[in-house]
Amino acid sequence: MAIVVRVRPFGETSQVVHLATPDHGLIAALVKGAHRPGPEFQGGLALATAGTAQLVRRPRAELELLRRYRIEEDLRGLRDDLPRFYGACHVVSLLRLWMQPHLPAPALFAAALTALRAQAAAPCSDLAGWTVWFEARALAATGHRPSLEVCSACGRALSGDGRARFSAPAGGLVHDACAPPGPAILLTAAERAGLLRLYTARLPELKREPPDDTAVKAARAVHDLFLPHVLERRPASLDRLPGRAEKRIP
Ligand SMILES: [Zn+2]
Repeated sequence: MAIVVRVRPFGETSQVVHLATPDHGLIAALVKGAHRPGPEFQGGLALATAGTAQLVRRPRAELELLRRYRIEEDLRGLRDDLPRFYGACHVVSLLRLWMQPHLPAPALFAAALTALRAQAAAPCSDLAGWTVWFEARALAATGHRPSLEVCSACGRALSGDGRARFSAPAGGLVHDACAPPGPAILLTAAERAGLLRLYTARLPELKREPPDDTAVKAARAVHDLFLPHVLERRPASLDRLPGRAEKRIP
């Protein structure tokens, strides 16, 4: 199974695509004759589709050769309206930034597939929640899960009921006295609890009881701060997401 995370035209009828895969990480491949009519590519590969890919390794070439691609997941809903499509673009953009060639990333891949299915079919009111859920799972899968239970600077307990600061350079919540210089936001106890649940609750539980508005907004604000810090760049896809929180400066 592969998710198409980048598509570029190549010559008159071909494409160069990047595929995210669970077992082989990111794969760059040439799709010869992608736009020619025929069953192999169904008219050319499209971004944020998921299917099975038949690849031919070319040991001395930079690009593998894609022989056949068959869509396996019905993600047509992503093309129905802009918030869904932008949500999907954000998912594939993070996949492209985080996946490496030849490095298996099954947890990241599985989270992306779940998020794309949800962006294609979930009620519009849940899309922002699914976006922050995917970001949380992707941060965890790539070793960047923020510290939310104890102070990420000194490791001691945080007060359970009060406000706490989320510091991007510290990598999580910190005591006021421990906060290093750099971007931070203040979270209420309710926002902290919602954020923690987003990171720790299992998927079936979150499907039964989706994160509330407070949790989604808090996670949006935290991830707006934290993702550019972790990635060392601000993904353009962040600015097109629905349900964005206002910037808050403590
Ligand atoms: Zn501390």
